[in-house]
Amino acid sequence: MATTPELKTEEKKPVTSVTLKVFRFDPEKDKESRYDTFQVPVRPGMSVLETLFEVLDKQDSSLAFRYACRGAVCGSCAMYINGSYRLSCETQLAQMGTTEITVGPLPHLPGVRDLVVDRAPFFEKYERVMPYLQNKNDPKDKERIQSPKQRKLINEAVDCILCSSCYSACPVAWTNKDYLGPSALNKANRFVVDSRDDATSERLKVVAGEDGIWRCHTIFNCVEACPKKINQTDAIENLRRKTVSQKMKFWKR
Ligand code: SF4
Repeated sequence: MATTPELKTEEKKPVTSVTLKVFRFDPEKDKESRYDTFQVPVRPGMSVLETLFEVLDKQDSSLAFRYACRGAVCGSCAMYINGSYRLSCETQLAQMGTTEITVGPLPHLPGVRDLVVDRAPFFEKYERVMPYLQNKNDPKDKERIQSPKQRKLINEAVDCILCSSCYSACPVAWTNKDYLGPSALNKANRFVVDSRDDATSERLKVVAGEDGIWRCHTIFNCVEACPKKINQTDAIENLRRKTVSQKMKFWKR
């Protein structure tokens, strides 16, 4: 069975504690945000999320952070850790290569308290692309069968766990609050390429609008931030190609 490497110093001695700096802000009490520092004892295999629990249980019960599954499938515990977007539940201290860990909330989303952000702007965009299968015909069988080739087209996109990291990392979303953003566009593409969906025209109409695909500057921040290694920029490019070819068909009529 694979074992988790222990966190070690440069001298290869086992580390007994890490210095955890955590972003703090309580809108009901604080005028300004700050970082609080905690010394947290280390256990083998410990994740960043577990260090936050250690603080919550033993040092400061007022610390607020969000989590749910603790297995990298719900996206709730996405945070900004040592300058990178990460899921705190799957980020082990041994991976960090340092004993100083700085944890902040997802940038560019409205803060609620400490590490908790309001994801409403993200989900509002998500809903606009109609993130569900649309098919007007009843299937003859009990399920709508896909070939392995058809399924392959959606393999990557369905891994999205709605963590909001890509939206938080997108410079276009920072400056345009109406931009649909990488995750919603990836979801739109997921249904556009799905052989079972027949609402392509409706979806392309939404994504080709003023706040959709043409706003992307192909900066790839979203791809870098994604914990599931989804290429949202590729999905946006595909939506652009589909939109252009649909328009060309219209003009050729
Ligand atoms: S595409 Fe990746 S980064 Fe964006 S919400 Fe989905 S899982 Fe998170």
